[in-house]
Amino acid sequence: MQNWRFENRFVNELPGDPEESRHPRQVLNACWSPVLPTPVAEPRLLAYAAEVAELLDLNHEAITSPAFAQVFGGNALVRGMQPYAACYGGHQFGHWAGQLGDGRAITLGEVINRAGERWELQLKGAGLTPYSRTADGRAVLRSSIREFLCSEAMHHLGVPTTRALSLVATGEEVIRDMFYDGHARPEPGAIVCRVAPSFIRFGNFEILAARGDRELLAQLVDFTINRDFPELEGDPATLRSQWFEAICVRTAHMITHWMRVGFVHGVMNTDNMSILGLTIDYGPYGWVDNFDPDWTPNTTDESGRRYRFAHQPQIAHWNLACLAGALASLFPDQQILQASLDRYVAVFLEEQRTMTAAKFGFKSFDEHDQALVSEAYRLMQIAEVDMTWFFRGLADINPTAPSLESLREAFYRDDLFSRHEQTFATWIQHYAARVRRDHSDPAERRAQMNAVNPRTVLRNYLAQQAIDLAEEGDPSRIHALLDALRRPYDDQPVSAPFIQKRPDWARERAGCSMLSCSS
Ligand code: AMP
Ligand code: MG
Repeated sequence: MQNWRFENRFVNELPGDPEESRHPRQVLNACWSPVLPTPVAEPRLLAYAAEVAELLDLNHEAITSPAFAQVFGGNALVRGMQPYAACYGGHQFGHWAGQLGDGRAITLGEVINRAGERWELQLKGAGLTPYSRTADGRAVLRSSIREFLCSEAMHHLGVPTTRALSLVATGEEVIRDMFYDGHARPEPGAIVCRVAPSFIRFGNFEILAARGDRELLAQLVDFTINRDFPELEGDPATLRSQWFEAICVRTAHMITHWMRVGFVHGVMNTDNMSILGLTIDYGPYGWVDNFDPDWTPNTTDESGRRYRFAHQPQIAHWNLACLAGALASLFPDQQILQASLDRYVAVFLEEQRTMTAAKFGFKSFDEHDQALVSEAYRLMQIAEVDMTWFFRGLADINPTAPSLESLREAFYRDDLFSRHEQTFATWIQHYAARVRRDHSDPAERRAQMNAVNPRTVLRNYLAQQAIDLAEEGDPSRIHALLDALRRPYDDQPVSAPFIQKRPDWARERAGCSMLSCSS
C-alpha cells in the first residue's frame, strides 16, 4: 500500500466543493466534496478477494496486516489518497429525485497498478458525507456481505461489474429498521472496499443538466471520455457521439448478461447505472430461482414491479433516454442521441439471440427457434422450474434419446411436475429434433452450454446463510461461498453444498425471497 502510485484525476481535474464540513447541503458548481472517512471503533478484516488484491499489487501479507484493516475500515489514509464523495442526482422509480450523491461511499483515490491500469478505491459505509441527507452514512454487515460476494460472483460469471477488495467489520453497531415496520434494531456494521476503473454514474451528468450547469456538464463529459474511454478517437464532436453510443452498447451488453444468469438488480435507478456499463450498487438484488419474469426481489418495488426480471432491458433503455436528455444541450443534432438509443435496442436484441442460442445449445438462432424458446420459458414459469437447474439439465439431454429425467430435479413441486409432465415431454421431443438438425458434436454442445449456463449462482438463501453465521461471529461461510463462486460453471467438490435449489424454508424468509433497501 505504501508503494501505491495515485493519480487522482477526478479531484485534480474537476471542480470540487470549497466547503469541507459534512453537513447536508446542495453542492453547486462542483462534481465532488472533500470528506474523510469517519473512524470506527475496531476495524477487523472479515474477508478479501485475492484476485482483486492482485490487481492492486497487494499480497496476502499486506492484506492481513493490521494497517490494512485500519485503512479499509476508514481509520487511516495511505500517502497519496485524496478522499471525496461524488455529487450526482438520479431518477428513482421513474421520478426525478434531485441531488443524491455518495451518501455513504467515499472514494480514497485512483491507484495506478504495475500494469498501468487505473483502479479507483471506494469505501462503502465509511460515514457521513454532505450527501447523507437524513441517513447515517453507514452500512450493515448483511448488506456488505451481499455486496462483497455478489460483486465477485458476477465477475467470475463474466458479467461486467464493480469489484470488491475487502470486507471489514467496524466493531460498531448500526440501527436499521429492516422491514420498515417501526422495529428498528442494532445490527453489526461493516465496510466494503469497492474497486472499479470509474464510479461515474448516469446521475453525475443528470444533476448538472438539471441545474442548467452546461459548462460543467461539458467538462465532465470530456473528462469522462478522456479518462474512462481512451479507446475512442476523433474530433471533439464525434468523440461525444461515439461516447454515448459506447455507453448504450456497453449497457446492452451488461443487461444481456443479467438475463443470461438470472440476475435481478432490484433498484435500477439512474444513480445506480454505471457509465462504463458495470453492474453497480448491490442492494436488494436477487437471483431467479423458479423462473418468473415478473419477479422482483425488492420489497419497495413489489407493488409496481418496475424492476422485475423481464423488464430490465426496457428499464435500461429508459435510463439511457434519461441520460440522453441530460446530454441533449451538448448535441446540436438530437438525432445522434436517438440513433444510439436505437442502437441499444438493436444490440440488445442481437446479443439476446446469440445468448439464447448458446443457452439452449443451438449453433445459431434462427427465426423458427423463437416459438420453441418462448414455450420453454412459459412452461418453466407455470410449472415453477428452477432456471439454473433447467439449463444445466438441458445440456444433459441426449438428442437421439430425449427424456425428461435430466430435468426432473429442476422442478420445485411434485404436483406441478405431474401436471405438466406431458407438455414438457412434448416440448423435449421438439427440442431434441431442433438440436439434431444442427448435427453438433454431443460433447461439444454440452460443454458449450455449460460454459454459459452457470451451475453455481449466489442464490439469496446462500447469502443469507453466510450472513446468519457471520452475525454470530463466524465468517467461514463467506470464504467457502467465495471459493465456490470462483468457478461458477464447473462441477467441483467445493461447490457441492451451494448448488442446491432454494430450500422450502427460504421461500418466504426475509433476505431469501424478498429484500428491503434498508442496508
Ligand atoms: P441506493 O438506493 O443505495 O442506491 O441509495 C440512494 C441514495 O441514498 C444515495 O445517494 C446513497 O448514497 C444514499 N444512501 C443510502 N443509504 C445511505 C446511508 N445509510 N447513509 C447515507 N446515505 C445513504
Ligand atoms: Mg446507489
